[in-house]
Amino acid sequence: MRAAVYEKFAQPLTIQDVPDPVPEKNGVVIRVGATGMCRSDWHGWMGHDPCIRLPHVPGHEIAGVVEETGREVSRWKKGDRVTLPFVCGCGACPQCASGNHQVCDRQSQPGFTHWGSFAQYVAIDYADVNLVQLPEDIDFVTAASLGCRFSTSFRAIVAQGKVSAGQWVAVHGCGGVGLSAIMIASALRANVVAIDIQREKLDFAGSVGASVLVNAGEVEDVAGAILDITKGGVHVSVDALGSSNTCFNSIATLRKRGKHLQVGLMLAEHRHPPIPMDKVIANELEILGCHGMQAHEYGAMLDMVCEGKLRPEKLIGKTIGLEEAARELPDMNRFGSVGVIVINEF
Ligand SMILES: [Zn+2]
Ligand SMILES: [Zn+2]
Repeated sequence: MRAAVYEKFAQPLTIQDVPDPVPEKNGVVIRVGATGMCRSDWHGWMGHDPCIRLPHVPGHEIAGVVEETGREVSRWKKGDRVTLPFVCGCGACPQCASGNHQVCDRQSQPGFTHWGSFAQYVAIDYADVNLVQLPEDIDFVTAASLGCRFSTSFRAIVAQGKVSAGQWVAVHGCGGVGLSAIMIASALRANVVAIDIQREKLDFAGSVGASVLVNAGEVEDVAGAILDITKGGVHVSVDALGSSNTCFNSIATLRKRGKHLQVGLMLAEHRHPPIPMDKVIANELEILGCHGMQAHEYGAMLDMVCEGKLRPEKLIGKTIGLEEAARELPDMNRFGSVGVIVINEF
């Protein structure tokens, strides 16, 4: 099969012919129909993820067709249209037994713990637990855009943040995660404040549901400005970027008993950021981590997509081929593009 491979961290990717994957007895091989490009692919390529063994194929936002099944797989057959969360559970550990596959003790992540989907085929283990049937109404490109950023934001806003109509929600950072969170919170009829340093991204945020736009590059005191606008702070705030600065601002933006949702990954020098813990105790704030969404919770999100309440396809910036993806991945940290990039030619 053709795959985009890197042999060393932070070195160019090349398109190579590599052996086709074979399914484990509990797993499947999926013919990739589309796969999203995510900033965590860039982090992996930089060497920020200790799971990755070289040479490596990135890619974890997957939609496609089951090509081959292991002998123990009972729920899936060749030809099924599927997608899956980026965190795959084992189905048997205490976390999975409690329904929280997104924090499985023996989790696997395609594109990190094993080769991912910047390729014609990808192998997925414990398929009965991890695959999600894709409704006919949702095409592969749209489905691929759900696998990581959108589904994580969905769980963050709906299950963790418990956002309801009329609440204030702040979203710090308007990349893929942030735009998803804005669209989902706005579908729940919350009032959304979008914060970014790029005018273009803020305008896009406005077009997917943000009602207040704050340019952090132009405002001296971001948290102060939001406390003013919302008359006391937001009910729920999301750090959608994952940086010391946005994490601090997100917590400082909350009203009493508000919830901070950490959705942007905190890596490299941002792993242990300073946070306003004095506010956390005085105002009884909650700080919640969000690590993907388990496959069995996908139904509610897919229903909202099929009903047109969520329009993830609006977040897609462009579709590209594998060669272009290999060229673009190293530049992902420049935050140049607006919207999500999806690979749909292999
Ligand atoms: Zn991702
Ligand atoms: Zn597990």
